[in-house]
Amino acid sequence: MGVHRSALCRGPYGGDGDRSDGTDCSDPAVFEVARHDRPPLRVCPVHLGPSLLLASGVLWPPEITLIGRL
Ligand SMILES: [Zn+2]
Repeated sequence: MGVHRSALCRGPYGGDGDRSDGTDCSDPAVFEVARHDRPPLRVCPVHLGPSLLLASGVLWPPEITLIGRL
């Protein structure tokens, strides 16, 4: 397993900047969203959609990698 079980969702805001307080999801991350000049954003299935619109630096069209189990 290349991904730690402790990888948690950081969505939908990305856990950085002035919106970091909005990141309180504790579900396991299943997807990784590529971002510009920022670390990839790991999110759970519920927050995948919102994170594409709300997180900072998300590429468009989005580049999404499956990192966990659905
Ligand atoms: Zn989440």
